[in-house]
Amino acid sequence: MMLEHIARLEALARQLEPEPEQRLNWGRSVWTYATDFLDKLENGKAYEGSPAQAGQWLEPSETPRPVSEILDFLSSEVDGQGINPASGYHLGYVPGGGVFPAALADFMAAVSNRYAGIFFANPGAVRIENQMLRWLCNLVGYPENALGNLSSGGSVANLTAVTAARDHLGIRSKDVERCVIYTTSQVHHCVHKAIRIAGLAEATLRFISMDAAFRMDANALGIQVATDQAAGLKPFLVVASAGTTDTGAIDPLDAIADIAGEFDMWFHVDAAYGGAFLLVNELQCAFKGIERADSIVIDPHKGFFLPYGLGALLVRDVQTLYQSQYYQANYMQDALQANDEWSPADLSPELTKHFRGLRMWLSLQLLGLQPFRAALEEKIALCQYFYGRIQELGFEVGPYPDLSIMIYRYIPPGADANAFNGELIKWIQRDGRVFISSTSIDGQFWLRLAVVNFRTHLRQIDTCLLVLNEGVQHLLKQTL
Ligand SMILES: *Cc1c(COP(=O)(O)O)cnc(C)c1O
Repeated sequence: MMLEHIARLEALARQLEPEPEQRLNWGRSVWTYATDFLDKLENGKAYEGSPAQAGQWLEPSETPRPVSEILDFLSSEVDGQGINPASGYHLGYVPGGGVFPAALADFMAAVSNRYAGIFFANPGAVRIENQMLRWLCNLVGYPENALGNLSSGGSVANLTAVTAARDHLGIRSKDVERCVIYTTSQVHHCVHKAIRIAGLAEATLRFISMDAAFRMDANALGIQVATDQAAGLKPFLVVASAGTTDTGAIDPLDAIADIAGEFDMWFHVDAAYGGAFLLVNELQCAFKGIERADSIVIDPHKGFFLPYGLGALLVRDVQTLYQSQYYQANYMQDALQANDEWSPADLSPELTKHFRGLRMWLSLQLLGLQPFRAALEEKIALCQYFYGRIQELGFEVGPYPDLSIMIYRYIPPGADANAFNGELIKWIQRDGRVFISSTSIDGQFWLRLAVVNFRTHLRQIDTCLLVLNEGVQHLLKQTL
């Protein structure tokens, strides 16, 4: 009875392991779908408005569906709608694009399902992840005892950094009201979120004034910190940005490091977007002082052009991260034996995790560093090119870009600029050839250009200029 029961179940359960022929069949279909998708990018749209109603939704059923039906569904309901972050015409939010070797690496990581959380479970996988982290640490100029963690993205990495800062300075809940955190109003919103999640919502958050290019005024920071300390408060954390989301501004890191050092504060640099530009030699001096930060966030899924799902937290003294994130569990006692390499599980909130480092490693191995460096330099040059050309089209611009993000807007004669640019962005979205985003700074509506996709070249920027000009001419005719 029992054996028959098991045999019956086994026959069904074995369907989870497809026969080689089935594997090939699915694999070919998916491969064809993926390559078609890639081949269409150059002449496709960056944005496709969604239909008011979703199509026929595929509910999971007891029996399998054919792969063609499933891919048709994905094509119309997912890949045919919304923003296309793989497109070089996506110039809105920070898009990396997703270099192809990363997809192969994710496939391999999923096939072998290696456990990359603990050194004991797979020394090689953990070594690959730590090697990527050490490579990033080297890039920022960190010492030997620095390390960190490959996270799902910048938000989680920033949260982990804020938590490490809190624990390193021994801040308990009753201390929080006295604590002061310093940043600028241009800091990414995930830092606000991190402060709240880390239990620091009751700390005072001070927005330090900025120069005309939206960089923190280090003098103002120094004065504010001294004032707060004299008033009996506890200056505790300063969060600088190296590449802000609105304009790509880099705060004066070296001067901020001086102040953080003088007042024993934790110095964190959010370089989620900007960090990759350290590969560009000419930019090294703009990042001067980053190596003095206690912690740094860099998102490989932005400037290293990897697909979404890879951020990195770097901590100058890995012990401080360990003290904040270690764990003990009886059932994990075997894993504690081997410890000649740090385990990601000891340096992050995660235990079981995707072997996400493989996509970075394989991409750097298969492509080499040279094209990454060139692509980053190209993005900067394209942004500077746009900065000049857009003014020739009659637009007003924000500060000259530090990196590859800038703001601009059209001032229509005799009409409200905010409303006009709001209409312009709607027109561009309906058009869909390119995708740009917008932001508000001090009540002014600005259009925003973010050149971060590795598929963005001169052709894409020229198309963007053309579309913007068409949009303006169209709206001007309407208002007159
Ligand atoms: C993108 C970004 C973040 C958030 O990172 P996610 O990977 O989107 O979670 C934080 N800070 C800056 C400066 C960013 O550009």
